[in-house]
Amino acid sequence: MSEVIREISPVRQYFKNLFDGVKAIYNGMRLTLKYMFLPKVTEVYPDVKRNLPQRFRGRFAFLYNKDDGKMLCIGCYACVKVCPPQTIVMETIKGEDKKIKTTRYEINIGECISCANCVEVCPVGALEMTHEYETATFNQMDLVYGMDKLAKYVEKPNMYMPPDGKAKK
Ligand code: SF4
Ligand code: SF4
Repeated sequence: MSEVIREISPVRQYFKNLFDGVKAIYNGMRLTLKYMFLPKVTEVYPDVKRNLPQRFRGRFAFLYNKDDGKMLCIGCYACVKVCPPQTIVMETIKGEDKKIKTTRYEINIGECISCANCVEVCPVGALEMTHEYETATFNQMDLVYGMDKLAKYVEKPNMYMPPDGKAKK
C-alpha cells in the first residue's frame, strides 16, 4: 500500500515558519529575562580568582630555610627517580665538609604532570606544589625553571600529608 504524502500549502508553510520563529524568540527572551534576575555564577577571571583547595597542585617549588637561607635539599636524588616524565635535572657535589650539596635543580614545568610523587618521597620536605598556576608562556624555554625561579623561603619543611590527613611517619 503506497503512503500518501500530504503537501502543506505555501501560505500555510509561511505562517508555520512565522509562528516557529516567534516561538523561538519568545523562548530565548524568556530564558534571558529569567537569568537577568538570578544571582550571577560567572567569575570574571582573571579579575576574580577562585579560592583554591589546600591540596591544589600548582607550580612546583624548591624550598630554602627562611632563617639561614640554606636549601633544605640533601641531594638524595629520590625525587629524580620517582618523577614519571623524568623532568627533574639535578647535579650535586661533595663539599669539603663531606656533605652533598645540590648545585643544579631544574624542572620543565611544561612536562611536569603535577603528580606530587617528588613531594611525597622527599625525606626532608624540601619540595612543594604551590598554588601558582598562571605559568603559560609563548616561549617554551620559559617553562624550564631553575633554582632561582623555583626558590621559596619557608619557616618549616613541607612534610607530605596523605589524603586521610594523618602525617607520614
Ligand atoms: S610533580 Fe610529578 S611530574 Fe612534576 S616534577 Fe614532581 S614527580 Fe615529576
Ligand atoms: S628528594 Fe628532596 S632531598 Fe632528595 S634530591 Fe629531591 S629535593 Fe633533594
